[in-house]
Amino acid sequence: MFARASQLHLPHERTLGSLILNTAPAVSDFAQTVKQQADIVKIIEGYIRLRKSGAQNYSGLCPFHKEKSPSFSVHAVRQFYHCFGCQASGDVFSFVGKIENVGFPEAVRIVAQKCGIPLPKREFSSPEEAASSRLRSKLLDLHEAACVWFEEQLAAPEGATARAYLSGRGLAPDGIKKFRIGYAPDSFHALEERLRSMADTETLRASGLFSSKEQGDGSQGPLYDRFRKRVMFPIANESDRIIAFTARTLETGDKAGAKYINSPETPLYSKGHVLFNLDKAKAAIRQAEFALLVEGQMDCISVFLRGIQNVIATSGTAFTEQQVAILKRHTSQILANFDPDDAGQNAAAKTIALLTEEGFTIKLVSLEDGLDPDRFIRERGVDAYMAALRTARSQSDFLIARARQLFPGATSEQKLKAMNYLLPHIRRMPEKLSRDQFASDAAQKLGIDSAVLREELRQAALKRRDRIEPRAATLTEVERVLLRALAITDPDGEQARRHAAQAILQQPAWFEPLHAAPALLALANRQANDPMDVLEDPAQRALLAEALLAETKPPESVEVQSAIQEIEERSIAAQLRDLRDLIAEAERRADHAELAVLTQRKLALDRALRELHARGIED
Ligand SMILES: [Zn+2]
Repeated sequence: MFARASQLHLPHERTLGSLILNTAPAVSDFAQTVKQQADIVKIIEGYIRLRKSGAQNYSGLCPFHKEKSPSFSVHAVRQFYHCFGCQASGDVFSFVGKIENVGFPEAVRIVAQKCGIPLPKREFSSPEEAASSRLRSKLLDLHEAACVWFEEQLAAPEGATARAYLSGRGLAPDGIKKFRIGYAPDSFHALEERLRSMADTETLRASGLFSSKEQGDGSQGPLYDRFRKRVMFPIANESDRIIAFTARTLETGDKAGAKYINSPETPLYSKGHVLFNLDKAKAAIRQAEFALLVEGQMDCISVFLRGIQNVIATSGTAFTEQQVAILKRHTSQILANFDPDDAGQNAAAKTIALLTEEGFTIKLVSLEDGLDPDRFIRERGVDAYMAALRTARSQSDFLIARARQLFPGATSEQKLKAMNYLLPHIRRMPEKLSRDQFASDAAQKLGIDSAVLREELRQAALKRRDRIEPRAATLTEVERVLLRALAITDPDGEQARRHAAQAILQQPAWFEPLHAAPALLALANRQANDPMDVLEDPAQRALLAEALLAETKPPESVEVQSAIQEIEERSIAAQLRDLRDLIAEAERRADHAELAVLTQRKLALDRALRELHARGIED
């Protein structure tokens, strides 16, 4: 599925920062034009296989979660998609944005290109969008200028220590140039002086390249260089533009501070959204059909420069879902080479868990003598490293070994702990065959002879614990009618729509007990044209999608009228039930004043109910 998507990838430059920024989609005129001309069914069919499943619907396997039977629907008339499994839903731009992992403006451009609609030179829907685009482009310029300056400083006399450090780590000048490694000198203001003419103070502050101290009055003090006396490793986005830095200290002892510091989160950079070196590695990853995943940036650089180019790094953090989504566009096979220490092994186990759920195949390598990839490849050469990679273990072997390491010994208590460590991993695997294999390996290698424990393992293999439970349909017929009425966009149905909207706005309390109440209220207030755009809560959007995907034609006014009447009846009936309780309570207390008030209210409600029934008969 993803291979197909990648082949269809358009050969255009991603706009800068779009990987990271998901600005709120204020819909521009251009986007509106594109949306009107695009056919969501055709666009989505470019990525996944769809089958006609109703008068206006198509369905297929959801590209956003792992599934065996299709719960992903596309509404051809209303031009939205919805997945009943993972609740993903939206319009053509949201689909393309999600699957290509780009922001709204970029999704608009991609769809426009697929439809052959010429792109305007630059489109901004609001002054805010224009300002944020200007800021991003300024921040990219600042990072580029900073990168060039750090490179110059590395070559300058002051960079001698840094050069010595890098050459000690086996980095030759061409490698340094390739990765644009630089040096931030021991100064609080050198970079600031260099960049000051390029931007105002607020923009410089937003770049994350500077720090400042909070003053006594709560305001921020003057800027000073964040990175000092450090080797600078630039971090690029997928379009090869610098968006952040990792900085390694050259100090030792008390003054050193953290060994590595990173740029903070900025409008350009979000740590969990970037895979280090993906810009340089992606072509090789697609070609090799797998990615080599290492922990550190130095590991990554070192391995890459010795010719293994499909290598990326997590930058020392556990994998995030966004990183998984990015990677999924390029491959579904991972060879992970994490450090053999406990932190590395724990990171490996976490990474396995996340990647397994997303359907990745994972193999793992641990290098001999506790070496990290950088040292191993420098000391023993690339051939030895390749040979080590070929000894990669399957994830089940790795996890079983890890379980035995964590819970050594042959007591039944230790075996039970080891098994409990493995069970969630087994349940996560999408394929029954692999679960079976994993479970029987685990039983054998842990020496589990207890019939009870074996049965537990067998059960784990039998059924995958679905991370995402498809929610049961919770809509009643009344809710269906009202949702469909409120979603009417055809002027012919305006009367029915207005009828429903007015009833809800006048008596919101009647509708409160309904599951779809938030959706009903939001839709009744709807200004935007597209009803699916109005709802932000995925659960509520799911209810609307369910109602719309089942509809053949919008409801008539009379259907709406009788739905509203039923709601009113239910509301009165509920009030009467409450009143009866209050009356019984007042009788027990012999509170006659209260009883008189309550009885009056009950009579009024009884009358309202009778009138309602009479009205129903007239209709
Ligand atoms: Zn889904």
